[in-house]
Amino acid sequence: MHCASPRPAGRLRRRRKTAPDPVNTFWAVFTGTLAIGWGATAAYAEYRRRRRARRRERYLEGLRFLLDDKPERALEVFLGLAANDDETIDTHFALGSLYRRRGEVDRAIRVHQSLVDRPGIDPRYRDAAMTELARDFVRAGLYDRAEKLLLQLAESGRDPPAALALLVRIHELQHDWTQAAAAHERLRAAGGVPEQPVAIAHHYCELAEAAIADRDFARARDLLRRARLEQRDFGRSAILRGDVARMQGDPHLATQLYRRVVRRDFHLLALVLPRLAEAARQAGDPDAFGGALGDLLQNGLASRSEIAYAAIVSGYYDDPAILECVREWISADNDLKDITGALLPSGADPTREQLLAVANAMRNVVLRHARYRCSECGLDSSTFLWQCPGCKSWDTLRGIAALEFLPRAARPRARG
Ligand SMILES: [Zn+2]
Repeated sequence: MHCASPRPAGRLRRRRKTAPDPVNTFWAVFTGTLAIGWGATAAYAEYRRRRRARRRERYLEGLRFLLDDKPERALEVFLGLAANDDETIDTHFALGSLYRRRGEVDRAIRVHQSLVDRPGIDPRYRDAAMTELARDFVRAGLYDRAEKLLLQLAESGRDPPAALALLVRIHELQHDWTQAAAAHERLRAAGGVPEQPVAIAHHYCELAEAAIADRDFARARDLLRRARLEQRDFGRSAILRGDVARMQGDPHLATQLYRRVVRRDFHLLALVLPRLAEAARQAGDPDAFGGALGDLLQNGLASRSEIAYAAIVSGYYDDPAILECVREWISADNDLKDITGALLPSGADPTREQLLAVANAMRNVVLRHARYRCSECGLDSSTFLWQCPGCKSWDTLRGIAALEFLPRAARPRARG
């Protein structure tokens, strides 16, 4: 019994010696964790640094391809970046816009579509990418696809007015005036401010013109009433109301409406003059036309040369009152006086036939040149249009109020 007793005591002692010290263990684990954490952080920082460096290198490579006019290679590089990186989104919008401006619409579509399809993209960026994609489709003439996207944005996007404003533009491009007016109404209901508030009145007038062509005068009057509600003192709707009145046998009302138009919107004189003359003829009152011209002259709203020019532009000038204006014009304008003076008898009043021959010659000159210019973009047009085909502004074409004898290259350049 006595000999056996130290063994357990010895085992106990050994056990006490080898048991881990909790404090040491704590520090060992703590230090190890710190080391692993530091190592992982350093490794991750190095990974990010290399990734940023690779991305920068790829980005510069894409730019080099662009500068070397290798847009397809550039596109591949930039699309590869889009799949991985939030920071390149702005670059992609700029790139898509650049491709579209250069007419490379397919590439613009690929850039913007890649943003729309990108998983986890911020909804604001997705909406913006969809809007840009719709612009690409418009540029490519794919109106139905643009319309579908914009309707989706108008329903669930963050900026319905922006989508609806573009929708108005698309319907205008398609000459779908009913849909254009409806989109305009929705735009206002959504709190948006239309780019051209007057546009909707023109949409109703376009529809009214179609109704007049179909001789559906009740519908035309209703549409013109809506146009007037949108735009007070609106020359175009007044002209069309005058046309309806004339076609329905009320030339006196037509004359009143036409006279009101030229008093307010002198630039529409060339449109109104033949109508005024027709209304006077229909009313059996030939003096009414001369009276309307006298009204313009007496009130200082027009000079005789302006009336003569508008009449020649309109093609309606075989009228004593107009030829009187032509006579005054050629005697007051030095260029015209020199040219016509070579043929007309000096000191004597030109006859009606001679004035008519001069007016015919002027008409030929006028027809060979642009007669209207857009006050917004400077586009020249040989015919009067309510909407500029260049910048799509409404009612911005104005008559070029002089005959231009200089060759085209010698004239001052038009704005825009
Ligand atoms: Zn224009």
